[in-house]
Amino acid sequence: MADVKVPEETETVRQQIRTLLEEGPLTAKEISSAVRRPEKEIANHLEHLRKSLHSEGRRLSQVPAECRECGFVFRKRDRLKAPSRCPVCKGEAISDPSFRVEAGRHDSGKLFE
Ligand SMILES: [Zn+2]
Repeated sequence: MADVKVPEETETVRQQIRTLLEEGPLTAKEISSAVRRPEKEIANHLEHLRKSLHSEGRRLSQVPAECRECGFVFRKRDRLKAPSRCPVCKGEAISDPSFRVEAGRHDSGKLFE
């Protein structure tokens, strides 16, 4: 992936996403409509955000997709979108995974002392 030049607009979008996720968990779809960028771009932004948070000792956490019918949690799935069907009950009412910026060092300070 060429990462030669990052347009200023991209930086702004990333900053917006970061601010949104510091306030509470959002799905990729919700992020997409909040910053008015296509959903397929969001994965890329989240990946960059994950890296920059990591370098600050913070974390982007992901709430996994979950079946609304039986409560099955798709823990291993590292995707932005929910799977279309639950392997347990075959239900199709599955919540999208959501993302959140974890609180700063105040909360997880033990790890860094
Ligand atoms: Zn299910």
